[in-house]
Amino acid sequence: MKLNQFVSITGTIHCLTQLRIGGTKEGIVDPGGAENTIIRHPITSLPYIPGSSLKGKMRSLLELDKSSGADIKDDGKPCGCGKCFVCKIFGSHAMSNKEITRILVRDSSLTENSEAMLRTAQEEKGINFAGIKSENIINRRTGTAADKGLRTQETVPAGTEFKLDITIKLFHSESGNDDKAGVIDFVKKGLDLLQKDYLGGSGSRGYGKIKINNLEVNDLA
Ligand SMILES: [Zn+2]
Repeated sequence: MKLNQFVSITGTIHCLTQLRIGGTKEGIVDPGGAENTIIRHPITSLPYIPGSSLKGKMRSLLELDKSSGADIKDDGKPCGCGKCFVCKIFGSHAMSNKEITRILVRDSSLTENSEAMLRTAQEEKGINFAGIKSENIINRRTGTAADKGLRTQETVPAGTEFKLDITIKLFHSESGNDDKAGVIDFVKKGLDLLQKDYLGGSGSRGYGKIKINNLEVNDLA
């Protein structure tokens, strides 16, 4: 098997609603901060979207799509058949069906405009590059806010934009070349499904609705 070509897919991820991809509080000294923090760059504290979150969500949506030919078992694990389009592009976890991963999804950092917007908000409003949302958990018996019912969550504000950066590797093997157009279309379909569904947590409550703008596909030399 030989590596034939790299193709880059780039664009802008625009958050139409607030976005929540959870981080960890460990090591972060933030008295009065939210209980459920978002993932941030360890040095700049700026939020980003981990490539693994984007890739995992695209994969799970594509597996559910009837066109993928993926074999979804009841155990909820990713398809490991090694033959379907999802395994071919996203890789197969099953040892017996090892398939080279053809897609690299890089971490999405803020666009320059969004970084400037959040820095201004930090200076003017003192917020830590994120919104803090309080939510009540309602006690089902009394109908009132449960004991310590108020929980706080950090979210990336609606309107924030991140840079989408995907690389696709196309291979040549004895069985022929990878179908370039087919692979690109399949990844585009994943991005399309992502926009219909949601990214991150609390999608059923309206979080994580995104739109991808300025989508570009380019051959890399
Ligand atoms: Zn498969």
